[in-house]
Amino acid sequence: MDTEPVGAIGGLMRELGKLPGIGPKTAERLTHFLLGAKRSDVLALADALRAVKDEIRPCRQCCNLTEGDLCVLCADPRRDASVLCVVEQPRDLFALERSATYRGLYHVLHGRLAPLDGIGAEQLTIDKLLQRVRAGGVREVIMATNPTLEGDGTALYLASELAATGVRVTRLARGLPSGSGLEFANSQMLADALEGRRTF
Ligand SMILES: [Zn+2]
Repeated sequence: MDTEPVGAIGGLMRELGKLPGIGPKTAERLTHFLLGAKRSDVLALADALRAVKDEIRPCRQCCNLTEGDLCVLCADPRRDASVLCVVEQPRDLFALERSATYRGLYHVLHGRLAPLDGIGAEQLTIDKLLQRVRAGGVREVIMATNPTLEGDGTALYLASELAATGVRVTRLARGLPSGSGLEFANSQMLADALEGRRTF
């Protein structure tokens, strides 16, 4: 008969089991690994976990995650500030950066419009994006939301909101697996999707 682990060990198993891709067996294996690991190593992990929640915040300009006021991309004078690439999540930005073809800046929405889940424009960083474009200096906004129903809907909404600003609005080329996320695309696919982007 299975007995549910209790106390500190049970607590750790439950917390690890909440992580994506970690089932009960893996949570148990990781817990026993940590129980047997050096105290300094385990505390270093605990400190790293605390640090990402205490020290990481949204970039003042693009809402990417950063430790400073501006993220490293916004602070880099070699990036082309006249092109903005709009992504749903920081992990999508990382995927595009790995493709190493894009030299512009980003805007991270921290989600996508999902009316059925009650996620509207005010829950995202859309106002900030509109302000950024209206402030001038931007000639193109590339919609790189995920090729899903909600990602497409978000891109469409943003394109209509941006229409009045006169900025060129483009969408990543199809070729990314439909219904999937940017984070799962390989670098060449993302480079091709950027290269083949078309005007909305
Ligand atoms: Zn930034």
